[in-house]
Amino acid sequence: MIDPWASFSVDYDKLVNQFGIQVISDMIGDIENPGRLMKRGVIFGHRDFDIINKKINGNEEFAVVTGMMPSGQMHIGHKMVVDQLKWYQDKGAMLSLPIADMEAYAARDMSFEKAREITINEYLTNYIALGLDLEKDNVNIYLQSQNEDLHRLAFKASRKTNFNELKAIYGFTPSTNIAHVQAPLLQVADILLPQIEEFGGPKKVVVPVGIDQDPHIRLTRDIAHKLSEELGFIAPASTYHRFLTGLSGDKMSSSKPSTAIYLNEDSETAAKKVKTAKTGGRESLKEQQELGGEVDKCVVYEMLVYHLIDDDAELEKIRQECLDGTLRCGDCKAHASELMAKMFDDLSDKQEEAREIAETLI
Ligand code: SF4
Repeated sequence: MIDPWASFSVDYDKLVNQFGIQVISDMIGDIENPGRLMKRGVIFGHRDFDIINKKINGNEEFAVVTGMMPSGQMHIGHKMVVDQLKWYQDKGAMLSLPIADMEAYAARDMSFEKAREITINEYLTNYIALGLDLEKDNVNIYLQSQNEDLHRLAFKASRKTNFNELKAIYGFTPSTNIAHVQAPLLQVADILLPQIEEFGGPKKVVVPVGIDQDPHIRLTRDIAHKLSEELGFIAPASTYHRFLTGLSGDKMSSSKPSTAIYLNEDSETAAKKVKTAKTGGRESLKEQQELGGEVDKCVVYEMLVYHLIDDDAELEKIRQECLDGTLRCGDCKAHASELMAKMFDDLSDKQEEAREIAETLI
């Protein structure tokens, strides 16, 4: 069992072997213009992504679904998901973006009004500012609490599972609140929704997630099979990405400012925060020169890989200079910090106009 609500310290290789997830690097040569995150192994695994890739190459219809629980501030770890959505949108995907206000109500005691406000000001605004076109015809954004199709579908999905199955996946106990039991079924319906007649009927859907979400994916695929006769549904595909480590070396968290760089912070604050990040640097400069840095334990390097450097050759040069001890952490951080400031300047230039569009969407 993977705990879907506790997502840090994951042994990715073990999970790939244990749960039958396929390795994306095996098919990277077949993907036309793979995104930065795919090329660099941040997106490391998949189920059925080969089928999605065929749809992309054949210009055939498919959809991508990413839910958002409006529970706090959006940070640079979330940006990674938006980058993936942008890649799929550029490849012609229908985008379905459920807003999990019912789950936020169940899990975080958040009112629907507050959830809507956070959705507009944090999530949709930044989605647009980061390059998504949410005004296209084939984009479906909805609040769970207001979508009757979703409620009907969740009810149908609930008929295809039982309490013991959900208990085995989520660890529910007899005292678990029933709203918590309903939440995963709404998520199942969120993933299956692009297949209803209103959106053109059954189609392949891909869901980009962290590995901690795989229990939801397996449940959804199972229920899709069980609904195939009644509704013609097909099992969704999924991809799995690594998490961006928090600044302090722990999990990046929406509620812990010392761990995260929030997308609504100004560029100066973002740049300063980069300088607080844990590095893979050695105890002394002498040791660094002799042994080289521990690049794969370095949060600054992760930020370069995930967000700050597009050019693979430039990134490789930094990696090599870190490993051979010629690059000093202070200089490396200063460079990363400048790049982060630039990224945040670009973002804040776009946020105001994006907010105006966001307000019209839900
Ligand atoms: Fe990290 Fe750069 Fe230091 Fe290497 S030189 S450990 S990449 S900060």
